[in-house]
Amino acid sequence: MSRRENLKILLLSVCLFKHNTYSAGFSLAAACLKSYADKMLCGKVSIVNRNYFGECGKEILDLISSEKPDLIGFPCYIWNVEMVKSLCLIIKRTYPDVKIILGGPEATGRRLAFLKETNADFLISGEGEDSFVRLLQALIEHRNPERNIGIIMPDSSDEESEKARSKMLPLELLPFPYTVEAMGMKPYPEMIIPFETMRGCPNNCAYCSWSERGPESVRYYSNERVLQNLNWIMENSPRSRIFVCDSDFFAKRERALFFAPYFRKAAEAGHTFTFQTNLRCWDDEMMKAFSHSAYEFDIGINGLALRTQKAFSREFSIEGITKKITSMKKNMPEASVYLEIMYASPGEKLSDFCKAIDWAFAQSHNALFFHTQIFHGTRLHKNAGQLKIKCSQKPPYYVFSTADCSEEMIRLEDLMVIALSTWKENPGIKGKFNKTVAEAYGGSYSHAFFDMWHKMPNSSKSVLNAVCERLLKGPFCLIHYVIDVSHEYPMLNDTVCSQCAEAVSSIYPF
Ligand code: SF4
Repeated sequence: MSRRENLKILLLSVCLFKHNTYSAGFSLAAACLKSYADKMLCGKVSIVNRNYFGECGKEILDLISSEKPDLIGFPCYIWNVEMVKSLCLIIKRTYPDVKIILGGPEATGRRLAFLKETNADFLISGEGEDSFVRLLQALIEHRNPERNIGIIMPDSSDEESEKARSKMLPLELLPFPYTVEAMGMKPYPEMIIPFETMRGCPNNCAYCSWSERGPESVRYYSNERVLQNLNWIMENSPRSRIFVCDSDFFAKRERALFFAPYFRKAAEAGHTFTFQTNLRCWDDEMMKAFSHSAYEFDIGINGLALRTQKAFSREFSIEGITKKITSMKKNMPEASVYLEIMYASPGEKLSDFCKAIDWAFAQSHNALFFHTQIFHGTRLHKNAGQLKIKCSQKPPYYVFSTADCSEEMIRLEDLMVIALSTWKENPGIKGKFNKTVAEAYGGSYSHAFFDMWHKMPNSSKSVLNAVCERLLKGPFCLIHYVIDVSHEYPMLNDTVCSQCAEAVSSIYPF
């Protein structure tokens, strides 16, 4: 580590890919880290944030060569973790004195093993601000960081690594993150902007690492701070796509209703919003307050089978959900509502998934299907053996088989999702396909798929299987693909997804 006055740090965020029409925003996590560290260590550190999209190894290595940092930080997610790992190995070989610090959900879940695989020097487990600042402070003072503040080091014991938890700060301590320096880019019109109004989650889903710290993790930004963020976005990025990354913005009913007129004003000025929610706090008043074509709501339904809901710790009544989403159609007809269904899940048989897909397509909302992933650091990961789940050991960690579904059955579910999502939404096919399903299969899309699959020539089956292989290879590929066709194919016409959609459309049998 150099003895120059300021510790020089590069925070490098690698996003998944660059869309053809817009770039995928910036890392809010890195912006929060920089703004908090600048506030706490004012003048003692110089932190540069950069966002990269897609293949960027050479650009990153060139930047390191020109900037000569003391420390490099990488936020790690399933979409960039393999690239981060290769970069760490190259950096440590080329610049052995440069320290590397890892954070983010993948680092938090994989802990000591990941630190060793990457040859990195430090790994922060959980929310990073407090541990990051304490680590930098220790490096500035040329001493070893404390052991019990959420930082894992190569010589940490397995027990220390398992126990490491960063401190979760009260949100009023975190400075405003939307500055050009903190974001690492200038805002521009129609940009995707990550926006948080709270942190933590009161729910307990077994497949999600957010549930690990329980209800005490839930903290809210003040109303003034949320409105300050919103006003900044409205002034600096016209018609932006605001992605509300809260676990559930609507979890506190009165608070959500308080913000409704402010969000509506932004919607009327041309901004769009995406929210995740689980409908618990939704009633007619909330629906009317958030009725606007600029809003998209992603509703996590997960699996419909009771055994799956139990395995996920997400019990709900399907009648209750059906009633609420029916009222949503009535009260907020212009809003986009997406029902998010997981498949290849523990406790779910092939017949259960067929019921789920038929239920989802029978609702008057869009349906998105997610192949279940087993993320490190979740209860599902810890219990995978007991639940007889076999899954990929590499991102995106898709489930191969469960006690209730063989590998072949799960492959059939993938094929069903791909074929039905394409045929049901492709403008050139959907009219006749939906009519055929209604008239010849009593409205059952799963029944239609199996019948068509059995009658399909082997050449068409090979096309569908090849598309499936391609989609399952990339992290999130299937998800983006389904979103793509749900938004009226072709929307992202320079991605593999649209090529896949064309291939699947070409084998439609009628
Ligand atoms: S999946 Fe959503 S609701 Fe469930 S624990 Fe995670 S953030 Fe909370």
